[in-house]
Amino acid sequence: MDHFNYKDGELHAEDVPLAEIAAQVGTPFYCYSTATLERHFRLFDEALEGLDHMVCFAVKAASNQAILTFLAGLGAGMDVVSGGEYARARAAGVPGARIVFSGVGKTRAEMRMALEGGVRQVNLESEPEMEVLSAVATEMGVEVPVTVRVNPDVDARTHAKIATGKAENKFGIPISRAREVYAHAARLPGLRVIGIDVHIGSQLTDLEPFRMAYRKVADLTRTLRADGHDITRLDLGGGLGIPYERGNNAPPLPVEYGRMIHQELAGLGCEIEIEPGRLVAGNAGVMVASVIYVKSGEGRDFLILDAAMNDLVRPAMYDAHHDIVPLREPAPGGDMHAYDVVGPVCETGDTFARARPLPPLAAGDMVAFRGAGAYGAVMASEYNSRPLVPEVLVKGDQFAVIRARPSFDEMINRDTIPPWL
Ligand SMILES: *Cc1c(COP(=O)(O)O)cnc(C)c1O
Repeated sequence: MDHFNYKDGELHAEDVPLAEIAAQVGTPFYCYSTATLERHFRLFDEALEGLDHMVCFAVKAASNQAILTFLAGLGAGMDVVSGGEYARARAAGVPGARIVFSGVGKTRAEMRMALEGGVRQVNLESEPEMEVLSAVATEMGVEVPVTVRVNPDVDARTHAKIATGKAENKFGIPISRAREVYAHAARLPGLRVIGIDVHIGSQLTDLEPFRMAYRKVADLTRTLRADGHDITRLDLGGGLGIPYERGNNAPPLPVEYGRMIHQELAGLGCEIEIEPGRLVAGNAGVMVASVIYVKSGEGRDFLILDAAMNDLVRPAMYDAHHDIVPLREPAPGGDMHAYDVVGPVCETGDTFARARPLPPLAAGDMVAFRGAGAYGAVMASEYNSRPLVPEVLVKGDQFAVIRARPSFDEMINRDTIPPWL
């Protein structure tokens, strides 16, 4: 459920007509609903009620400072995967004690930054990384709580580019080697082994891969405890999928996911962390674009938009589907027309949808891409020198630009011409 609905024939974000934002900001732009962000964050929090738990928002899904500040105000922890994300979380007012540092290639500088600013735990992904963190912590005279990310070798049954829990993926250590790797970590100074971390992929639409992974984590918890490790915290990662297509194979709800976690893990008495990104932010955002031209091709009509793959790369990168809806509500039962929906960038990959049934549209009409709040604006670029897409946040009947569109001058002036040129 989200807060983007038609009222009086116009698509609204909460109580604000998106066309009103477009008139002020211009298209394309992203628009987020605080009510949807809050609802989704609370669904997870409530799903884990009864367990000692923390919901850490995966910053990479939607890292605008206003979104992070809003979620921090709700009590969210944050899962970060870079020094930049760590800095963003801290700037949003999240204390170090609520920040989990994940990621497969942390540098010494990033480790130092987290140890200086404070960190809830570092999730380690390899033995070389473990040794470097031990050296950095020892140098700084501190002890850092760590988990090791294990790769449970389960098939997440999601798109290959966002599956992370199979043996062939670069993430974590093979669960079959966990005992020796934990023994190694326990011998290293500056590290305090406190738990196990797992994250098997993103946009999972089925609970079974999670269940299989968490069962392996439960077994491993008992094994490691028997080996003498004090395992008190389980980080279960993110990955729960969202319904990108209305009325089509709906993924499980957070409450069902929470019930499964209770079933599989409650008996261990561990603190539970989860790191949802997509499910918190995905349906809390839309991208609005205008039709520039309608072009008739051979056997197909193209809807050429002013948004492109540089603004929303998911269709090009992950073959992702986004529902596309006109800002003006179509008449019920009205005619539909099949369009190839494309952007102006000089690549055939700049195609958002093929033969998509839509009400007849004309130049100047506006459309919204639903489910664009996660992995949307954060993956945008200025390819084709298209200024970075702006972002807007809505709360009730108020809206604010939370990232302005750079002018051409601002875009150009970020580059410098060497004096010797
Ligand atoms: C990407 C990522 C997440 C968030 O995944 P979602 O599918 O957006 O919920 C959580 N944890 C880690 C370690 C990640 O890499």
